[in-house]
Amino acid sequence: MRPQCLFPLFAPVTSLPGVGPRLAPLYEKLAGAKVVDLLWHLPGGVIDRRHAPKVAEALDGKVATLTARVDAHFPSSSPKRPYRVRLADETGFLHLVFFHGREDWLRKQLPEGEIRVISGQVEHFNNEIQITHPDHIVPEAQKAEIMTVEPVYPLTTGLTGRLVTKSVKAALAKIPDLPEWQDAAWLSRQNWPNWRQALEIVHHPADEFAAGQDSPARRRLAFDELLANQLALAMVRAQMRRLKGRVLAGDGGLRAKVRAALPFSLTGAQARSLAEIEADMAEPTRMLRLLQGDVGSGKTVVALLAMLNAVETGAQAAMMAPTEILARQHFATIAPLAEAAGITVALLTGRDKGKARDRILAALAAGETDLLLGTHALFQEDVAFKDLALAVIDEQHRFGVHQRLELAAKGVAVDMLVMTATPIPRTLLLTAYGDMDVSRLDEKPPGRQPVDTRVIPLARLDEVVAGIGRASGSGARVYWVCPLVEESETSDLAAAEDRHRHLSELFGERVGLVHGRMKPAAKDAVMERFAAGDLDILVATTVIEVGVDVPEATIMVIEHAERFGLAQLHQLRGRVGRGDRESRCLLLYGHPLGEIAKARLEIMRSTEDGFVIAEEDLRLRGGGEMLGTRQSGLPEFRLADLTLHGELLAAARDDSRLILERDPDLRSPRGEALRVLLYLFERDAAVRTLRSG
Ligand code: ADP
Ligand code: MG
Repeated sequence: MRPQCLFPLFAPVTSLPGVGPRLAPLYEKLAGAKVVDLLWHLPGGVIDRRHAPKVAEALDGKVATLTARVDAHFPSSSPKRPYRVRLADETGFLHLVFFHGREDWLRKQLPEGEIRVISGQVEHFNNEIQITHPDHIVPEAQKAEIMTVEPVYPLTTGLTGRLVTKSVKAALAKIPDLPEWQDAAWLSRQNWPNWRQALEIVHHPADEFAAGQDSPARRRLAFDELLANQLALAMVRAQMRRLKGRVLAGDGGLRAKVRAALPFSLTGAQARSLAEIEADMAEPTRMLRLLQGDVGSGKTVVALLAMLNAVETGAQAAMMAPTEILARQHFATIAPLAEAAGITVALLTGRDKGKARDRILAALAAGETDLLLGTHALFQEDVAFKDLALAVIDEQHRFGVHQRLELAAKGVAVDMLVMTATPIPRTLLLTAYGDMDVSRLDEKPPGRQPVDTRVIPLARLDEVVAGIGRASGSGARVYWVCPLVEESETSDLAAAEDRHRHLSELFGERVGLVHGRMKPAAKDAVMERFAAGDLDILVATTVIEVGVDVPEATIMVIEHAERFGLAQLHQLRGRVGRGDRESRCLLLYGHPLGEIAKARLEIMRSTEDGFVIAEEDLRLRGGGEMLGTRQSGLPEFRLADLTLHGELLAAARDDSRLILERDPDLRSPRGEALRVLLYLFERDAAVRTLRSG
């Protein structure tokens, strides 16, 4: 349970003065729903308001804090003209400019004849010194309050800098006294402040440097976050090691039959990965292994052979996929091979109901079913195996850790193989999967046609559409992916609907539409029509990203490709080039395209190696943004930036190892403090792995 001392930080933002039900959703969107989320909402820079010249000396373009007497109001004569207020000091006039200014409010803020302190960006305009929409207008008594270095927070519509600054300040006031969780010697060597001081420094930076990523305070906070991440992973891993496993080493009979039935032989990478998995399974400890392989690298057959190893010992195995259609696809691939080996495989998804479902469950419980494939439906309480020994999870990032554990709980000492097609750079691998052993399929099955990738401006849309028309007319099947529109699923959808309408007008009935708002069954139905060839063109939002296999699809069009993460583009492109026909990928981009965006699309054009793409993307954009954010399932750090704090990650990893060597149950004073750190960063699940007490 979360320690009581953290309760104030995990209270809803509405517990802060001035944050009511109207602002709460805005804060939630901006930073999060809890007080602690505001602490993590760091300023991106500062405005230095300490420059306080006389009016005549105020420089053009500089932020200044000016003190002057209100001289006269000039309400606007037409809606197009701004409201102006003139002030003066002994050196000259200052004009304040307000578009759509409200007279009653302005007269209250700036009463004629009184002295006011104004802060904002100075402009020299038509020989006048002016400030448009000043950031601050206060009486002289409050001058010291605004003549500071002001943090500049990322904002969202409806929240001003002033409101956010105030709320963060209120959040800072809620910080309880917490024990120091960092090693004292390390802290003093780094010259880092304590946690509370660090937060105060970054939220009230004394200068630009203090607000920057490299300041000691910022690095300390980044290290806290990375340590929580690495320690949690190390604890989960240690727990896995403590858990007894079982030796799974079959006689190879079923595997030999299936390998003989395959129309191909394994690639070197597949053989190597399989050997690594088999070696883990043969150990009396639990396996927790990640099989990482690009789209189309052939993970399914590796997983099947591992499952057969379990079945050879008389046990059962299960494989779970994130969507109905993927589960069906696995079933379609595996069923004939299972038949060749003389074993029984069943499929269980959310669509199975009533008697049919009862029969599947009965066979499973009786041990008549050797392999069970399915979706989340596998978690359901009444799904019971006779003896589950190996669980495989495909597209791991779509599932949470607890789901992994739930599935494992359906057997005794279950070995776990998780798979992902997301190519992950090595540093990120540590943060996301530090608790796992990793096998990489870094070699594609032979005979794959490279995908001809072109980068084309959206201005040439008509040409592209005409080309698509010709291609689909001669039998090609086309994916057309519509852009992610920032912050709005609705406009996202609207873009796809518009394109669908547009293409339907040109090409008629054979254009389909699939998007994330559709019910799964409806979505699958459209996908199936496309797979069956009833549709030539499938307009989609990114819902097609995950592993759907339509080998006949040879053209992938991606609109506004510059808005996607590279890994996402890579995944999307992986939908084509699966058959033996030549495939194309058209990356359409909008203007203007920045240098980095250009470089990113160029990477896509020049390589199909997912690992290279992932490393380059990390280098160009930084960890936070890479992989198209949430889609990736990688942890998103609030305070650490892996492109800058990479060496801190390595230190956090070493530190967490040392911690667990010396104090595996976190019982020492530092251990107790580290528990608080884990809760602070919401690694509650890791704390639960500690032996009770
Ligand atoms: P993914 O890693 O994306 O899940 P799949 O397991 O779906 O990839 O495999 C993609 C395709 O490659 C399948 O059609 C599969 O039959 C084929 N395949 C897998 N391994 C080999 C191999 N060693 N040689 C030739 N084709 C292979
Ligand atoms: Mg797959």
